[in-house]
Amino acid sequence: MAVVAWIGLGNMGGPMSANMVAAGHEVRGFDLNPDAVATAVTAGVTAALSIADAVAGADVVFTMLPRGEHARAVYFGNEGVLAHADTTTLLVDSSTIDIDTAQALHDAAAAAGFRFVDAPVSGGMSGATAGTLTFMIGGEADAVTTATAYIQPMAANIIPTGGATTGQAAKICNNLMLFINLAATAEGAVLAERLGLDKRVFWNIASVSSGDSWALRTWYPVKDVVETAAANRDFAPTFTTALASKDIGLAIAAARATNTPLEIGEHVAGLFQRLIDEGEGGKDCSMIVKLVDGTLQSHA
Ligand code: NAD
Repeated sequence: MAVVAWIGLGNMGGPMSANMVAAGHEVRGFDLNPDAVATAVTAGVTAALSIADAVAGADVVFTMLPRGEHARAVYFGNEGVLAHADTTTLLVDSSTIDIDTAQALHDAAAAAGFRFVDAPVSGGMSGATAGTLTFMIGGEADAVTTATAYIQPMAANIIPTGGATTGQAAKICNNLMLFINLAATAEGAVLAERLGLDKRVFWNIASVSSGDSWALRTWYPVKDVVETAAANRDFAPTFTTALASKDIGLAIAAARATNTPLEIGEHVAGLFQRLIDEGEGGKDCSMIVKLVDGTLQSHA
């Protein structure tokens, strides 16, 4: 069994690290948020006092952080992973971050003598808890193979994507499609009810018809249709609007860099921005439905 350092014990990192504990690994967790650490400890994670404490003697370091700037803060600098880990330790960043930061992490890790992979995930909190995430792994073949072995307890699918940053590229394009699907599902759901359809009858039809999507099956934005939907819990976040806005922004930045028009993606990004402007950035992104049904209460 391995010694695993885990940095970032939030909505995803918490249940993912718990699955590593359940697989028999010794997991040392670090997070700036004491509540996140306390929850992880109840799942068997050992609380580390610092990044240096977490990575000392670790076989592998996982990072699961919100954005590129957090990943840079955790890997670089005097208190960071690169300064404190042993170069035999494999480094795995599972955060969803911009391609430029992912490249910077690969370059700095290689320059310091580490093996590093970008290994973002898809499957949401439900997949993190169930250990059924899809991992997309970019990096040198040897590092990808070693990472694959560690990742098994958290994953249903582990897919090598090619060289450095290709995991992030796959994740960014996947999430662009996800959020467009979510917006489409919100529009279809509201219109169906207004045309007199029972919400469950319509869901039963769409879920076995060409309107089907992961967003529809997992995140249906109408109360009492899909058990996992945040709509049942007043849009308490499973994936915040702020993170959704970040992810679709990553796609838009990558599209601009490659001269790719994303007309629908740009529109959906504008919908998330409207929710954020109304003070709802911390709520679940499926709250986008309120821009369709007209029930958004302004907190701005
Ligand atoms: P989260 O905000 O719940 O958790 C992130 C954690 O990182 C927080 O607990 C925060 O305190 C911690 N953190 C931030 N800076 C830190 C630092 N310098 N040192 C230590 N800890 C630090 O976010 P999440 O939902 O777990 O998402 C994490 C990443 O996974 C994001 O990039 C997100 O886009 C991606 N992701 C999320 C989901 C989802 O459904 N929530 C699904 C797939 C991918």
